[in-house]
Amino acid sequence: MMHAISTKCRRAVSIDLGGSHATVAVVEDRRILASRAFAIDSTGGLAPWLPVFKKITFELLEQAGVSVGDCCGYVLSFCGMVDSKTGRVVSTNGKYEDAPGIDLPAWCMAEFGLRFAMDNDARVALLGEWYAGAAQGAMDVVMITLGTGIGGAVLAGGKPYRTRQVQGGCIGGHLPALFSGRKCSCPAYGCVEAEASEWALPTIAREWPDFASSRLAELEKLTFRSLFELALEGDRVSLEIRNRCLHVWACGTVGLIHAYGPERVIFGGGVMKSGEVILPYIRDYVEKYSWTPSGSVSILPAALGNNAALLGAIPLLSGLD
Ligand SMILES: [Zn+2]
Repeated sequence: MMHAISTKCRRAVSIDLGGSHATVAVVEDRRILASRAFAIDSTGGLAPWLPVFKKITFELLEQAGVSVGDCCGYVLSFCGMVDSKTGRVVSTNGKYEDAPGIDLPAWCMAEFGLRFAMDNDARVALLGEWYAGAAQGAMDVVMITLGTGIGGAVLAGGKPYRTRQVQGGCIGGHLPALFSGRKCSCPAYGCVEAEASEWALPTIAREWPDFASSRLAELEKLTFRSLFELALEGDRVSLEIRNRCLHVWACGTVGLIHAYGPERVIFGGGVMKSGEVILPYIRDYVEKYSWTPSGSVSILPAALGNNAALLGAIPLLSGLD
């Protein structure tokens, strides 16, 4: 089912800003007309990157044959906490630390003459999947992204779940999984992200009994990709760590299902390259351990990959959020 768009907003500039990479795109409805991804360093702040965004934006508009006046807005999907009402970054968790002091709506108006909208990247990705991907036609959806960190976002009654606290509904990765667990990058301990995300994986592995005898110990960089490969090849420690991570993700999924009552849970993020192992495990676990008297919950892979947040721009600007 396609969703009717309530306004004439069809084209926009959309930036997906992560801690180590960014993508700028010109989008038209459910299509990307032109885009460019590039590596980015968040440690020096956001301000030095604004002229880069401006230059790339105008290059992409030209490439797409779209004038800036044909766009209805400029969307930034940000890897931190955002007050979407004011278009301000509120908390950055160590990335782009100058961002809360930057008036991005004013920057956008001055440079492009466009309306600015910003939200947490997981929320915009869910809007993208809802508008053009795996969440189409659903009203109540949880999206979980498994990657360097773990993102989460919630659609409730066809709208992103929000509260007056900016973290409301958008930090599913910081759901506690283990009260006696590891220190997280957030103030808490034992979050799903602290127990089973890529940034935590090297620590988890090094602390594992028999790590030194595992083939994991030979790796220069420990990623889920290599963990899943070695587990399939029968490396015992890799298999044990992989299974524990699957268990943590499944447990977190049940928590989110109990909290938000979705009809669908969508899994995205780079770690989903191993989705053929992850999804069946989570489906079985959810089937066994979730309390869902209204009916079972579909567990599906995201459909749009890295384009999800870019394609969330039109629904965000159209007020479908
Ligand atoms: Zn946390």
